[in-house]
Amino acid sequence: MLFNQLELIEPLLKAVSEEGYTKPTPIQQQAIPVVLQKRDLLACAQTGTGKTAAFSIPLLQLMHQQIEKHPQKSKNIRALILTPTRELAIQIGENISAYGKYLNTRHTVIFGGVNQFHQVSAIRKGVDILVATPGRLLDLIQQRIISLNQIEWLVLDEADRMLDMGFVKDVKRIIALLPAQRQTLFFSATMPVEIQDLSDSLLKNPMRVEITPPATTVELIEQSVYHVEKADKQDLVFDLMKDKNIKSALVFTRTKHGADRLAKWLTKNGIRTEAIHGNKSQNFRQAALASFKSGRTRILVATDLAARGIDIDELTHVINFELPNIPETYVHRIGRTGRAGASGKAISFCSSDERVFLKDIQKLIKKTIPAINDHRFKSMPSIVAEPKMPATTQMHKSNRTSKRHQHNSGKRREIVLMKK
Ligand code: AMP
Repeated sequence: MLFNQLELIEPLLKAVSEEGYTKPTPIQQQAIPVVLQKRDLLACAQTGTGKTAAFSIPLLQLMHQQIEKHPQKSKNIRALILTPTRELAIQIGENISAYGKYLNTRHTVIFGGVNQFHQVSAIRKGVDILVATPGRLLDLIQQRIISLNQIEWLVLDEADRMLDMGFVKDVKRIIALLPAQRQTLFFSATMPVEIQDLSDSLLKNPMRVEITPPATTVELIEQSVYHVEKADKQDLVFDLMKDKNIKSALVFTRTKHGADRLAKWLTKNGIRTEAIHGNKSQNFRQAALASFKSGRTRILVATDLAARGIDIDELTHVINFELPNIPETYVHRIGRTGRAGASGKAISFCSSDERVFLKDIQKLIKKTIPAINDHRFKSMPSIVAEPKMPATTQMHKSNRTSKRHQHNSGKRREIVLMKK
């Protein structure tokens, strides 16, 4: 199927083609006609499937048609796109600018963590489409700078993330302020019960579109796991980066502190690395992201929240420095590479205390992630995972493993010392 079979208007087709899109992705093929028919939509699709264009393009078309019908400029916001993070908000804004560049629709993006001045002046000039994160939106509503009583379209993006990040209450408060008569487009990568309930309360007779559940959207991504103890993980990243095929790697750490520590260490060792997380200012995060996208920075270390929605077309590798304890998070993380049909690589580090997470992940994705055994930090999980065994027995057992392995496992290193 081609974009021109989707009954899109010429200015949109032209913009989409200039973006280099040749064919609509499956979510776009299914969602665009539904939105254009003005029906509510419940879409189960994760980032990387082209979901932003799936709602932005038809929304721009409907908005454009409305503006043509009522050309007098209205100061009322008519479409609201709610999204959990500022990065995601900015990216949606950039996509709308790109797709809508031959249209007269006006949009702006608001998010917290920065001064509201420019956001407020943009809103005062008048916007048709507002992209917002929940906190800043509620703030500006309370200040009476924004009114939602003329909203005709609501897009709820990454609803499951809203839940994870504790925004559902805010979202419900916002929704209570919207006119009942509206078209609602609901996007979520996963459908836990609370999200199902939320969608039931928001949507009227929706068309349900499901793009391969998250567990199977990762098929194009080449996955591997390195069994390595905590203390050796930094060195292992360093070793891996000797491979020039790793052009850009997004490295996930569990904590902000861990992200900073790793970035500092890699930079000190000659690999230009930046870290982004919630404690960094918005300006810093944008600059770090720009530097990474341009290729100046080879590694970007991020926490899950900071990385949410980061849209980097050419990302070749995702490295899980620590495995997430929620298996779905693994799928979200590795979905940063292999976007819109491209292949990518996902490398995970698994220390003995993370083996249980690996098990859960493999259960979710219904496959065993191949282990790479040929590296100098290889830990022997079967031995390390027996913490209650007396040291003497462990010593005996590790004697059977190669000297190199003994030396490189954090735990066994202690044992070797004891033996001496
Ligand atoms: P999303 O799922 O919205 O985060 O989009 C993932 C990536 O796919 C973005 O970089 C988009 O620019 C890109 N993209 C979206 N639609 C298409 C398409 N039809 N063809 C090629 N790339 C696309």
